[in-house]
Formats: sequence, structure tokens, C-alpha cells
Amino acid sequence: MNEVEYKIYIDDIIRRVETARLKVNDYHIVKIIAISKYSTPDDIQKLYKIGQRAFGENKVQDLKVKTQELEELPLEWHFVGNLQKNKINNLLDINPALFHALDSLELAQELQKKLEAKEMTLDTLLQINSAKEESKYGVMPEIAYEVYTKIQKECPNINLKGVMSIGAHSDDKEIIKKSFEITYNIYKSLNGATICSMGMSGDFELAIECGSNMVRLGSVLFPK
Ligand SMILES: *Cc1c(COP(=O)(O)O)cnc(C)c1O
Repeated sequence: MNEVEYKIYIDDIIRRVETARLKVNDYHIVKIIAISKYSTPDDIQKLYKIGQRAFGENKVQDLKVKTQELEELPLEWHFVGNLQKNKINNLLDINPALFHALDSLELAQELQKKLEAKEMTLDTLLQINSAKEESKYGVMPEIAYEVYTKIQKECPNINLKGVMSIGAHSDDKEIIKKSFEITYNIYKSLNGATICSMGMSGDFELAIECGSNMVRLGSVLFPK
């Protein structure tokens, strides 16, 4: 794809996001985070050129390399991957705009300690394993409300902004929809939550129709 073809291609994705969000209502705004984990700094620059500003990675090391290589661009970086305890300080040194994948009270307590030591705060989402899949990270939906409020109380340097989920791994649209609805209902029950991050390349329209206001799009924005 040349630059013009790529712009037309991306416009079509944006149109799909637009159509889905308008099914919710006129005021339902959806933010697109471009997940660049399979993409090069060059690919990122191409998407930047046609207007994308928010990007995300799922490995701390990759986030570090890309933020450094693209330092001169005014990008907003998100971290969407699982965070190992021994990588917390590395992540905090990069200071991402939003950490999407806080997945246990234990990790929260560890993160709180490190944040306190560095005298900083971090905008964060609680990841919910709404499809209850063993292969996925996240807190179980039954305890999500309790864990969320506990983190709010016990971890003053973690600025909880809402929730994140990965849709059920299924070909059945109803099963995927159900997993999004579970997350959305938890999101609505939370005090002060403003971000519901769900929807990836294969299911973003459905996620938006279920109330998502942040989609994490990888492969669909960076076609090979
Ligand atoms: C890779 C990844 C995405 C994007 O996946 P695509 O299917 O390529 O859109 C979104 N969220 C997380 C947490 C990811 O790891």
C-alpha cells in the first residue's frame, strides 16, 4: 500500500468505529489505541502521519525501545501487557499514559510500593478476565468490584480509571458479546470509572456496541 492507499484504508477503519459508536449514541466517544507490537517504528511513523497519536505495546522492553526511537514525535504511549513484578521499575521509568492490565491486588500492592518510592502516580485500568479463560490474565468478574475498591482504598498512587478486558476467544458472537457485557456492567458499577478498554481487531465493533470507549487495534491498523 502506498501512502494514499493506506490513508483510504485507515479512513475505512475509522468509519467502522464511527458507525459502531453512533449505534450507542451521538455522544459516545471512542478512543483508538494503535497496538504496535508487531510493527516497526517506520510503520508507526506512517500511522502518525495520518493522524494517530496514541500507541500501545505489550512488552516493557519493546515499549522502551519504541519510545526511545520515536522520542521526537509527540506520541501518547500505553502499556497493555502483563506486568511482571521485576519489570515494574522499568515501566515506571517510561511513565506510560495508561497501564491497561493491572490484574491482581498483589501486583497493585507491589506497584504501589514502587510508585511511592518514586513519588509518582500512574493512571491504570483493572483487567477483568470476563471470559474466565485460563489462558488470560485478569481478576475474575465476581471479585472485580471488591478488588477495584480495595485498590482505590489501599493504593493512593494508583490512579484507577476503569477496566480492561480481552473478548472471549470464540467464533460465537453471542459468547464474545456476553464477555463484553460482563465487563461493561462492572465498569458501570464502579465509582468514578471513565475508561472501558475492550475491543481488538477482530471484535471492536461488537465491543463498542457493548459500551467500550477505548479500543486497542493492532493487526487491522498495520496490514502486512
Ligand atoms: C496485541 C494486543 C491487542 C491488539 O490485537 P489485534 O488483534 O492485533 O488488534 C490488543 N490488546 C492487547 C492486550 C494485546 O496484547
